[in-house]
Amino acid sequence: CGIVAYVGQQEALPIILKGLRRLEYRGYDSAGVAVLDSQGLSIYKKKGKVSELEKHLSSNGTIESRIGIGHTRWATHGEPNDVNAHPHYSSSEKFAMIHNGIIENYEVLKKDLLQKGYKFQSDTDTEVFVKFIEDIFVNNKCTLEEALRLALHKVVGAYAIVLINKEEPDTLIAARKGSPLVIGVGEDEYFLASDATPIIEYTNKVVYLDDYEIAVIRDGKLQVKTIENVETHPYINQLEMEL
Ligand code: GLU
Repeated sequence: CGIVAYVGQQEALPIILKGLRRLEYRGYDSAGVAVLDSQGLSIYKKKGKVSELEKHLSSNGTIESRIGIGHTRWATHGEPNDVNAHPHYSSSEKFAMIHNGIIENYEVLKKDLLQKGYKFQSDTDTEVFVKFIEDIFVNNKCTLEEALRLALHKVVGAYAIVLINKEEPDTLIAARKGSPLVIGVGEDEYFLASDATPIIEYTNKVVYLDDYEIAVIRDGKLQVKTIENVETHPYINQLEMEL
């Protein structure tokens, strides 16, 4: 179970795949990525090792993207297979999400979403989570981060999540409660990961996101707010470089 995401001027995919391999020690049963390029938002995911995902990616030709999210899954809800692997799309396929952790009240949320006509491809709590955010987003006609903020008041459980949005190609939105999430602050680029190991070769400046905080990286800037909508001023830690 691990998270790696990137936004900046470099090719995102090699950074994300390398990062996922660095997190392999945490254990996982499947791996996946979502990237945003001229084709739009695409998800590639596979049961098995990161090397399986890489094979799958190379069979899809050249993928060029400056932004992306990656995940290794340790299944808690739904067996390990390609469909249950992350990322998961919203119904509109306008955004996609990766998640480490467990949503404890997903059954109640799912029942409600099914009644509203939502369809589910996977058996995961994560797909319920992303479609729950989508439902708020659509009904409130608000920004995605506001929909996430409202959703986090209703969601019970543990999470580290990252959202990527087709309509905002320079934006990543992340949040955590109970599961770790570190933000690497580079020169005009940002990294997100479950721990600093995928980040340290690019930058030694990191922000540890706190529980109940939402990070929005947009247009090269990082903003952190609590789920009460209060802006916090994240402390930038300088890590010792151990290459
Ligand atoms: N609960 C989610 C799932 O089963 C995420 C598991 C994880 O942390 O990798 O898909």
